[in-house]
Amino acid sequence: MLPSHLNGHSALGRGRPRLSAAAASGDFAAAGIGAAAPLEEHDRIYFQSYSHLGIHEAMIKDRVRTDAYHTAIMRHQKFVEGKVVLDVGCGTGILSVFCARAGAKRVYAIEASEIAVQAREIVKANNLTDQVVVIHGRVEDVDLEEKVDVIISEWMGYMLLYESMLPSVLFARDKWLKPGGLILPSHATLFMAPITNPERYESSVDFWRDVYGINMSALVPLAKKFTSEEPSIETIGGENVISWPAVFKHIDCYNFTAEEFKSITTKYKVSSMMLAPIHGFGFWFEVEFNGPAESSHNFPSNLDPLEIIQKKRRRSSEDAVLSTAPEDEPTHWQQTILYFPDPIEVKQDQIIEGSVTVSQSEENPRFLNIHLECTTGGQTLVKDCAMR
Ligand code: SAH
Repeated sequence: MLPSHLNGHSALGRGRPRLSAAAASGDFAAAGIGAAAPLEEHDRIYFQSYSHLGIHEAMIKDRVRTDAYHTAIMRHQKFVEGKVVLDVGCGTGILSVFCARAGAKRVYAIEASEIAVQAREIVKANNLTDQVVVIHGRVEDVDLEEKVDVIISEWMGYMLLYESMLPSVLFARDKWLKPGGLILPSHATLFMAPITNPERYESSVDFWRDVYGINMSALVPLAKKFTSEEPSIETIGGENVISWPAVFKHIDCYNFTAEEFKSITTKYKVSSMMLAPIHGFGFWFEVEFNGPAESSHNFPSNLDPLEIIQKKRRRSSEDAVLSTAPEDEPTHWQQTILYFPDPIEVKQDQIIEGSVTVSQSEENPRFLNIHLECTTGGQTLVKDCAMR
């Protein structure tokens, strides 16, 4: 069960796993593979969370997500037809079935959680056993008979990086992808921007000042702590965003490494478009589905963040992109908000700058530590929080 402040404004109800809340019980075993290494506790809890149907239901019912993958597969059909595909974390097997229907010769559908059992039945019920091989195990432990032409995976967690599943995809790329092979999605960009959200702040913090005529202001410091100590998963709108977004990180899945994933630091500098109180920072992402050739052409490593934003404006409906931006249709990822304990007033055109570090927690590599520094109008705020 999600703490209510984490899914307060969810349009889609349940979302991805929050691992601190996941049930730690159950008889999970990475069955189906001979010499699998025993799972570490954090992985056991992680895969346990994906054995629940509710998570798969939320993902599959998220049409923005599922349609984007389907469109991407069909757009790249010539790379899939007659080819070998590896689906990293197939869940119910939906993306593997899409690939098989798009003409893949063989799909290796790898899934470490117990849902692999049902994925196998789904493949059978759809008469795809000749094409789709479901393997119940971790992609790090499986042995395939051949290298693959395409890797597909839906690895994105809240704030893109939560869950730390991307390193498993990179592992699969380095071990199993043929040179020149296709990775779907190919690129991911995590954006950030200061946001204003007076209603949310009032309902969480100011609320305590007068409760049924009782002065409960003694709870205000606790409310500020509670609101700001953990990132909040909620849906905001474009009207809450007060500057052009900054690019926190652009990831090229053809070249990114697990080492780089461990800790990412970015400096940002944005300018407020209005007079408003800043209540915190919002984070959201988009992923693109490009071929390896397109990637080197379109994405030089030193791509200017502004170019990425302009690219978005030029985008046509032909492009296969999955966006979780506040101005776009809501998804089950919503947006991730880091609230400040106290708002900071900014004027129009005021510069807001600083840096953000997102790193994998040492206690549990699936958790994130976030360090944010923000300077504006002579005030500096430093905030550390963890996403568990
Ligand atoms: N592809 C499915 C499920 C995506 S959710 C869909 O699009 O609906 C991610 C899935 O990857 C989860 O089911 C999770 O258990 C699985 N997974 C994550 N890391 C994995 C790993 N290292 N090896 C195998 N499966 C993994």
